[in-house]
Amino acid sequence: MGIRQNVQQLLKELPGGVELVAAIKERTAAEVLQAIEAGIKTIGENYVQEAERIYPLVGSKVEWHLIGHLQKNKVKKAARLFDMIETIDSVEIAAEIDKRCAQMGKVMPVLVEVNSGREKQKSGVMPEDAEELIKAISSLPNIKVMGLMTMGPRSGNPEDSRPYFITTRKIFDGIKTLGLANVEMKYLSMGMTNSYQIALEEGANMVRIGNLIFGQRTGD
Ligand SMILES: *Cc1c(COP(=O)(O)O)cnc(C)c1O
Repeated sequence: MGIRQNVQQLLKELPGGVELVAAIKERTAAEVLQAIEAGIKTIGENYVQEAERIYPLVGSKVEWHLIGHLQKNKVKKAARLFDMIETIDSVEIAAEIDKRCAQMGKVMPVLVEVNSGREKQKSGVMPEDAEELIKAISSLPNIKVMGLMTMGPRSGNPEDSRPYFITTRKIFDGIKTLGLANVEMKYLSMGMTNSYQIALEEGANMVRIGNLIFGQRTGD
């Protein structure tokens, strides 16, 4: 099937209130435009540099989410290009985004990334540290915490993702209950091509999908 049919199928299948983020890493601008014509409203990009390259061709007719790890030296560009940053995992990076957004007169919606699989090589905050991080950054005036994002360990079997989604969902609900000022626990971003159905069952309302829209990436 082509990109158009893939997008239309997904949009039909996803329950109301679930936001579809098209993960565009390694795709061409032409492919991204096809997805947008088929109804994609939000794009997820892993790399600031790739976003810079594609942005002029795609522009602001869609929302841009950063879904890859952000380095401090890229924050200035990221603050300009993105409408949401899904990968906050330290006070330092949040403070830097806050500073850059203040200079632009912008308030950046952000998600805190949870390392739900506790994987050493992965970014994201440890599950037990998510609440403390959110409390620490909630007072920054030019960012707004809007929820959580998680990847979970990669596995061939979608069921293996379930415990990590449950862990993240529990943290999400717990923080929501606290009713912190300037924190709106609205989005729970979890699930990719092989796991989004499980993620939806466990409460995701934002899914990030690449391969199922654009076809298998070369090198995957
Ligand atoms: C690549 C990627 C996705 C999408 O993965 P697919 O398997 O292509 O659906 C989602 N989230 C992040 C953070 C990614 O890097």
